[in-house]
Amino acid sequence: MSSLELDTPVQYVKGVGPHRSEQFAKSGVRTVEDLLLYFPRRFNLRRQVQPIGTLRGDEPAATVAGVIRETNYKAFGRKPYFECGLDDGSGWVVAKWFHGGYLTDRIKPDMHIAVSGKVSVYRETLQFINPRWEVIWDPAGTNLNADELLPVYPSCGPMPSGLISNIIKGILPETQRLFARWFDDEHLHRRDLPARPDAIAAMHRPEDHAAWTLAKHRLAYDEFILMQLGIAIQRMRAVSRPAYSLKVSGEIDRRIRARFPFSLTASQDRVVAEIVSDLGRSRPMNRLLQGDVGSGKTVVAIYAALVGVAHRKQAAIMAPTEILARQHYAKVEQYLSGSRVRIALLVGAQKKSEKDDILERLADGKIDIVVGTHALLSKKVRFRSLGVTIVDEQHKFGVRQRGGFRAKGYAPHCLVMTATPIPRTLALTVFGDLDVSVIDEMPPGRGETQTRCVDKSRMNEVFDFVRERLADGQQAYFVYPLVADAGNAKLSAAQTAHDELTDEVFADYTVGLIHGQMPTAEQQSAMSRFAAGEIRVLVASTVVEVGLDVPNANVMVVVNAERFGLAQLHQLRGRIGRGKDNAACILVADSKNPIAAERLRVLAETNDGFKIAEADLRLRGPGEFFGTRQHGMPELKIADLIEDYDLLQIARRDAFAIVQTDPDISAPEHQTLRAELLKAYGGRVGLVAEG
Ligand code: ADP
Ligand code: MG
Repeated sequence: MSSLELDTPVQYVKGVGPHRSEQFAKSGVRTVEDLLLYFPRRFNLRRQVQPIGTLRGDEPAATVAGVIRETNYKAFGRKPYFECGLDDGSGWVVAKWFHGGYLTDRIKPDMHIAVSGKVSVYRETLQFINPRWEVIWDPAGTNLNADELLPVYPSCGPMPSGLISNIIKGILPETQRLFARWFDDEHLHRRDLPARPDAIAAMHRPEDHAAWTLAKHRLAYDEFILMQLGIAIQRMRAVSRPAYSLKVSGEIDRRIRARFPFSLTASQDRVVAEIVSDLGRSRPMNRLLQGDVGSGKTVVAIYAALVGVAHRKQAAIMAPTEILARQHYAKVEQYLSGSRVRIALLVGAQKKSEKDDILERLADGKIDIVVGTHALLSKKVRFRSLGVTIVDEQHKFGVRQRGGFRAKGYAPHCLVMTATPIPRTLALTVFGDLDVSVIDEMPPGRGETQTRCVDKSRMNEVFDFVRERLADGQQAYFVYPLVADAGNAKLSAAQTAHDELTDEVFADYTVGLIHGQMPTAEQQSAMSRFAAGEIRVLVASTVVEVGLDVPNANVMVVVNAERFGLAQLHQLRGRIGRGKDNAACILVADSKNPIAAERLRVLAETNDGFKIAEADLRLRGPGEFFGTRQHGMPELKIADLIEDYDLLQIARRDAFAIVQTDPDISAPEHQTLRAELLKAYGGRVGLVAEG
């Protein structure tokens, strides 16, 4: 029999054949290597256990096994009891022990246990009452004998897990030798990592829990290494171009600060110092500036732009929408009125003659600061000497557009801003090629924002509350999610609600409407009428999420709040509390959906954007975090961005050290890493096959 190689089609593996190889292909398993990397999802007991999903509720004696999702001890009441929820992937069952207080130290979430006994139904929930139980697998230590463990593979078409298990078991010994080394022994030893082939074998057939944990750790490390190498290469490439060194003298600093009618907060000062240090180097700045809405990022961005101008270089500020671009432009205009700095606005909707004029002046160096939308990235836009670029809310552009500015010769310094708090894990991944600055303090003199969650049945009370605030002279937002209509076109629920609120609920007040399907000019007009206080209640879709600054609007009602992401709600909430008064945010949701209600509670509990972002990331996963799956990074199958954060940091340090010494990953000892990188990223990391 011919021997297997890693790239041998899975069809030629003993026990597979053409038919099963088709089944495997549907799960992405095409080669021997894919098969060896197809790991069990969990382990079961070898003896007879029944899938929880098949329990009917009247079994006199059943045995199930699964992982504990949660535990609960009710110490009070006539009959104290301990209960836990058990999940085996097919369903969920509750196990309950009366007078079970002694179990609180013994049965813990994430343990795998088996329970057997009589099954009954209580309040529509399946339960075992006082069952016999035993630990199958305790992440904290104790283990069952490895022979008792049955690997459970994710299903592959109709092939049962046992069959997959046998196929893999059959090739494990002979394929061990095929895996090339990624790192030398010393590297592994210092990080307490097992060899990769051993780790792969242990993922399928662990000696015990500890061996399995270690194996997972190693493979997670490898995934992180590939990801971070890609990031390190990208970063190296970005910052190794020459840039103008824009040094900030005391005189320049003084002149810029004199432009602002307030002194900077300590946070702003710190961030300005970080930016000043970047700008002074002859390598381009590559920095992310994070800060909640209203924390004063725009001011910092204008500072950076003015440093460029002080050196007779141009600056470009790009925003994701025309409305935002106009607002930034208005800010710049306001701070620079009476100065000689020449500014311009460039958006898609302008007249051709107007645009042509701006393009010409940009190319001639007769404009110092240009503010615009992605129109700035058009091929026609040429700068005389672009020194500083600022990109606001970059993720809202859909794809990452950095480096899109057309600058001849020297690379511009680049500052990316976001009001969406980036959890620390994403700062090391999605934004891993950027240095990070954070503004974590609000300018002085702001009110507090209180957030409450209410059930939608109490809408009338909400209306009463808002009417009271309106009678006090305040203004309010009513925010609605987008809903899909029958024709599948996105239609704003705001529209329908607007009619109802106008005619009935707030008949005494002017009610305005703003949503993304309206022409920009109409949106603009609604916003300025609201800002002027002429409109008292603004019914809106999420277009108000960014940019509106109306200090007198201190009430926000979000309807169907459960349909929004937490980070998005947090940003919406940033629209209020911008003045001296305290603000109220009311999240109206359907509390019949307990998961949604629980989720929203995070917002009522904290105003800390980073805590909210972490919670959001946990709930939605990194891919969904920004609403789009973007930035083509290799998929993480084993590693968990949140659980394995420490490991991520280690892998990041290692990857950056490797790229530091071997920027093209071409050294002989890195050939395996190079091949793996090419496999993971394809052409996207831009490693050319040079040998
Ligand atoms: P962001 O871009 O982070 O949302 P902005 O830069 O637009 O925030 O600032 C929000 C508001 O706070 C603006 O009206 C701005 O004039 C004001 N502001 C910014 N920095 C300060 C400061 N240091 N002191 C007082 N007000 C400030
Ligand atoms: Mg802003």
